[in-house]
Amino acid sequence: MTEKMYVQRKIGHATLTLTQGDITKESVDAIVNAANSSLMGGGGVDGAIHRAGGPKILEDCKRIVSKIGSLPTGEAVITTGGNLKACKVIHTVGPIWYGGNQNEPALLENAYRNSLALAKEEGIRTVAFPSISTGAYRFPIEKASDVALSTVIEFLREHPLDEVRFVLFSPKDFETYNKVLNRILPSPE
Ligand code: ADP
Repeated sequence: MTEKMYVQRKIGHATLTLTQGDITKESVDAIVNAANSSLMGGGGVDGAIHRAGGPKILEDCKRIVSKIGSLPTGEAVITTGGNLKACKVIHTVGPIWYGGNQNEPALLENAYRNSLALAKEEGIRTVAFPSISTGAYRFPIEKASDVALSTVIEFLREHPLDEVRFVLFSPKDFETYNKVLNRILPSPE
């Protein structure tokens, strides 16, 4: 039997959760997609979300692109969740890792912060994130998890959504996020 990987911390009135699994199965108000600038779908979590959510998501993406063009790195937009349990998908574009001197950490921080700000603006109370940029975009996961967790914790201290959940695809990614969380927040608040 495999143990359920699940960690929760309170950040003021908000809950921060780490879990392992497939983000397309999450019952939250919105899931975040690690999209690319074209918003036309792709591999990894992007492909999984479009497959599970169906064509309505791409229709919304096309409408957005016809208005604003491609989505710059670090920005976020929102669409329907289509057939997903989550009502909405927030699409953001994380940075490609070029070695760390191309502003990658600040751009990753923007991706998280702009996604959270958009969620708040839309009245969304529960949000699930994948590990943005750590797949095809090759951002080292230990560094990325530090940026991800620090940005979410800082945001929740000022804007208490009900819950922000990180849904890590592999047990190893979950362990990395958990280790970094324990370093950032040594004792439960
Ligand atoms: P990026 O291009 O931003 O690196 P990827 O989709 O390649 O995006 O990878 C981001 C992370 O999403 C990786 O850690 C990958 O393992 C993870 N991932 C892939 N599919 C899923 C899924 N269905 N649910 C949650 N995470 C996923």
